[in-house]
Amino acid sequence: MSGAVDQDTLRFYQGHADSYEGRKPPLAGPLTTFLEALPPGGSILELGCGAGYQAEVMLQAGFDVHATDGSPELAAKAAQRLGRPVATMLFHELEAVDAYDGVWAYACLLHVPRSELSAVLARVWRALKPGGLFYASFKSGEGEGRDKFSRYYNYPSELWLRERYAEAGRWSSLVVGTSDGKGFDQEAAQFLHVTARKPGQS
Ligand code: SAM
Repeated sequence: MSGAVDQDTLRFYQGHADSYEGRKPPLAGPLTTFLEALPPGGSILELGCGAGYQAEVMLQAGFDVHATDGSPELAAKAAQRLGRPVATMLFHELEAVDAYDGVWAYACLLHVPRSELSAVLARVWRALKPGGLFYASFKSGEGEGRDKFSRYYNYPSELWLRERYAEAGRWSSLVVGTSDGKGFDQEAAQFLHVTARKPGQS
């Protein structure tokens, strides 16, 4: 594995945008908790927004949402759903500085190559305003691998993930929760939900 992006994974999302749109992510649970912890009407960057279902909930709740995805096909689906432009942006292209109250990355940074994850997390840290909140979820495991669609997964343990977050920046809090579920491949998986806060202005 080398390079910032796994091309087989991106090809999957480019080629299966129609079928992937048929799979709705949860519209409550961690998303509700995240939104409740943000200032009302605050700014949110969504990474890997897929077909835009969760961004739609954020917009309806009155937030200022900047939705992005690395697949132009899925970004177009999301733009259609949201009725506004959705940027095609790869994780490692994030250049924003102190710009967002929250960054939401549901089941997408799990595709970042292991060797690149700290650098992507550091970009998220930089993009957050002081005191900003960052949520990301991963499929847990003990080493990288691929599913039956050839999608790459970094399959982190909680310890490995905590080390990558620590390399990326200083967080004033970092909480890891777990849940069981199934991905698009219908295989049972354990998910790690990481919520981290950037220190506020001192
Ligand atoms: N968050 C959405 C949801 O829960 O419905 C989509 C999750 S899907 C498992 C992963 C998403 O990450 C896809 O929309 C895919 O296009 C996007 N993605 C994969 N690799 C990416 C990369 N390097 N940069 C940006 N987006 C990427």
